[in-house]
Amino acid sequence: MSRFISKRIQEMSVYVPGEQPQGGNFIKLNTNENPYPPSPMVTAALREMPADKPKLYPDPSCMALKRAIAEFYKLDAKEVFVGNGSDEVLSSAFRAFFDEGDKVYFADITYGFYKVYSSLYGLQATEIPLATDFHIELSDYMGLDGHMLIANPNAPTGLYHTRQEMEAVIQANPDRLVIIDEAYIDFGGESCIPLIRKYDNLLVVQTFSKSRALAGMRLGFGIGSPALVEALEKVKFSMNPYNINQMTMAAGIASMQDRGYFEETTRKIVATRERFSAELQARGFTVLPSRTNFVFAKSQTLSGRELYEYLKDRKILVRHFDVPRISEYLRISIGTDQEMDALLAALPQE
Ligand SMILES: *Cc1c(COP(=O)(O)O)cnc(C)c1O
Repeated sequence: MSRFISKRIQEMSVYVPGEQPQGGNFIKLNTNENPYPPSPMVTAALREMPADKPKLYPDPSCMALKRAIAEFYKLDAKEVFVGNGSDEVLSSAFRAFFDEGDKVYFADITYGFYKVYSSLYGLQATEIPLATDFHIELSDYMGLDGHMLIANPNAPTGLYHTRQEMEAVIQANPDRLVIIDEAYIDFGGESCIPLIRKYDNLLVVQTFSKSRALAGMRLGFGIGSPALVEALEKVKFSMNPYNINQMTMAAGIASMQDRGYFEETTRKIVATRERFSAELQARGFTVLPSRTNFVFAKSQTLSGRELYEYLKDRKILVRHFDVPRISEYLRISIGTDQEMDALLAALPQE
């Protein structure tokens, strides 16, 4: 190892993304991408981009994009922050709101980046165990002595809490920041965005990667009070003022303008999820009730690793987490009906 590596980076464990095979003809159900293409309005906006546009820096204020998001959610553009994926929004939030040594709380089984950012930024992180049925035990989050991150619906479990239940947590921690990661909220959940004017300790984070089929464009957003957004902007302008490129900006605006396509495709994915969950259960699987574009399921006969390998041998890629409590489960993204049928057909007879 080079002698120039900082102690913090030496000691850090990194986030491990799902495999992105280049070629190989896999049915790819391992990183919760959308099986449908983005809105035709996105494709048109990209195609119609003037040839000389990329020579100019993008608008660092991202105003047109913020307005499009604000319009969709009936907000003011001052309540919107945009980032290069919601991962960057989360990272900026850690920078903007937490000082070194601060306490932060999140579930023991949740999105891996919370732990990674905690160590990257030198925070004191505490993991709160999920209940035995994998629900987030929200009563554990009432009156904490630190800030908190909650993915709702949670990943990789897919389990969901209502807005009312989330509001109780926000209310019980008036002097702590509550960051709610709603990466999967569009697949049947109720967003906490309408609560941001009532609570100045709430930041809601969402992404274009899942429900809007733009994972490859890298675009996410944070919604909160203008004061929170201003702090996020300060971080961004200190690190990378041009964090959203011209193509991504155009794609994001067009996506927000096509509500019909967004609603139609998310509805289709939810319908496929419900059918696929029932089919798995009929084959003896334990399937957690999902409000996301994936299911978290366990076979009766094969271990998580065995089934992962079995499917991979048949060119179907799903996600297996080799960590305590969930190693018998697989996280299976919801693809098209045909893709899910292919998976069901490939399963070993139980
Ligand atoms: C996918 C995901 C994200 C990150 O999405 P981006 O592609 O960076 O926008 C954030 N949180 C959760 C829980 C996710 O599953």
